[in-house]
Order: sequence, then structure tokens, then C-alpha cells
Amino acid sequence: MNNKTSVGILVIVALIVGGYLLFRQSFIGKDMNQTSQTRQRKESTQSANVEVSSQCSVEVIPALTEGPYYKQNSPERTNLVEEGISGEKLTLTGFVFDQDCRPIANAWLDFWQADGEGNYDNQGFKLRGYQFTDSSGRYILETVVPGQYPGRTPHIHVKVRATENSPVITSQLFLPGVSQNQTDPIFNQALVMDVKDSRDGKVGTFNFVVNK
Ligand code: FE
Repeated sequence: MNNKTSVGILVIVALIVGGYLLFRQSFIGKDMNQTSQTRQRKESTQSANVEVSSQCSVEVIPALTEGPYYKQNSPERTNLVEEGISGEKLTLTGFVFDQDCRPIANAWLDFWQADGEGNYDNQGFKLRGYQFTDSSGRYILETVVPGQYPGRTPHIHVKVRATENSPVITSQLFLPGVSQNQTDPIFNQALVMDVKDSRDGKVGTFNFVVNK
């Protein structure tokens, strides 16, 4: 083997080792990034739980008008976001509590709302869906921030019921810091969601207190 061949082999070996190290570093880096994201998610979920539990009130939520656009037989789902629906993403979470601040598992919630431009789907079931709270009394709704339409401040309609034999409360949820809240006669401060910005749209919380 002459010197040129030896140098050539050394270069090839160096390239292979270097490539492997680069690949390994980027793979591990990605993995660590994912781990830290998972940890952040867990922490934010934990702090959200503490926050919402301490906010439980003994007052049953106020009932508000149903409005003209409620439709029965919407699909059961927690994610209302579909392709082509306008509006910024909103992930709403919270609990359904009884008046003693005990979370209610399997409580029924039915949501319906306008899209980001203030339009309801009255032909189909876009932005409409019902669900039940999980074993810890928690619900999650993936949707969009509702737009305003003439005469109304932005709102999400909801029906909620603790158990099959409980009364249904029909109400609406509102966004904080919207100027139209002050001029809408239906608006109620007790029904304003806590909303924050996140990397993935807005994140809201609201706890329902209902009678059983
Ligand atoms: Fe409405």
C-alpha cells in the first residue's frame, strides 16, 4: 500500500466517523428536545389542574339564551377543527363540578359556535359536537376562536348536564378583553373564559358548576 492509498483510506474512514457523529448528535438533540417538550406539557397540565381546582365556585353557572342556531344530533367529538374552517385555533379545557366543587365524571357537554368570520354552519355540523367529561371530570374542546356577528360579541354556545336525570343548563362562553362585551346585553362576566396565547394558538380554561 503506498502513501496515497493510505491517505485515501484515512480520509474515507474520517468521513464515515464524522458523518456518524453528526447523525447521532442531531438524533439525540431531537430526542432531548421532544423530552423537554413533553415535560413542559406535563408541567403546564399540572399547573392548569391546580389553577382550575382552586377556582371552583359554588355558584351554578348562569343560564343564557340558546339563540336560533342550536341543532340536535351533532357528532360526538372533542375536536371541532376541520380543514377549511376559518379562525385561530383555541384549545379549551376545564372541569364540570357540582356545587360542592366535586368534579363530575361523564357529564354531558354540547358545544356549537360560529367560525372565525362569525358564520354558523346551519346545513351541516361544522363547529358542533358533544362530549362527556372523563373520569376526573375534565373536558377538552379543540376549536377556533369564534368571530363576531351583527349584534353579538364573540361567544361559544354550550349545553351542559351533570347526569342523565339532571337539568340541562344552556349558556354561552365569552372571550376576555373584547370591547363588544360591554355593549352586548347577553354578555355575562361570570362566563368569561381564561384565555392565553400559546405556541399553538390560544389556550382557554373554563370550569362549569352545575346542579346534579
Ligand atoms: Fe350565537
